[in-house]
Amino acid sequence: MNDYKKKYVLDATVFIGYDFQLLQKLENSQFYTTPSILNELKDFKSRMNFKVLQETKKIIISHPDYKDLILTQKKIEKIDPNTLLSSSDIEILALSWRIGATLITNDYRLQNLAILLNTAIDNLSGKKITKTVKWYLKCKNCGQIEKNNIDSCSNCNGKLKKIKYYVDEIKSK
Ligand SMILES: [Zn+2]
Repeated sequence: MNDYKKKYVLDATVFIGYDFQLLQKLENSQFYTTPSILNELKDFKSRMNFKVLQETKKIIISHPDYKDLILTQKKIEKIDPNTLLSSSDIEILALSWRIGATLITNDYRLQNLAILLNTAIDNLSGKKITKTVKWYLKCKNCGQIEKNNIDSCSNCNGKLKKIKYYVDEIKSK
C-alpha cells in the first residue's frame, strides 16, 4: 500500500495553524495518527483540518499493538524516567517506530524520545531539538541510583532527582 510514499505520524499540534499549511505542502506523503490523538483535537479548526486530510485519503488512523506500547514504555523509562507522558504520546512513539514513519511533533520531550528510539523526527515550523539527552534517577538523600520509574528512593524513601548521563549533539539538519 503506497510504499513509495513517505510516511509521517502526526501529533495533535500539527492540525492547526501554520503547521497545517506546511503539512499540506508535503508531497507524496501518507499521514498516520492514532485514535487518542484524534480525541485530543477539541477545537473546531483542528477537527476540520483533520477532515480535510481524511476526505482526501491522506491520513490513516492506526492503533499501535499493545505489545509495542509496552515495549515503547519500557524503552522510555530507560531514557527519560518519571517523565509525564500521556498515553497518546506513547502511542504515537510506538506507531512511528513500528511503521518506520517520521514523527511530526513540536514537543521537545517527544522529539528526544523519538530520536533515541530510532525514529526520524520532523517539525514543520522549525522548533527542533539540537541534542538528545538521557537521564537516570538518583536519590538526593542517600545517592542510590534507581533503574525503574518510581517516585521515591527504594532505600531511604528520599526524593529523587534526574541526572543527565548522556548528551549527544544532533548533526546535520
Ligand atoms: Zn535514598
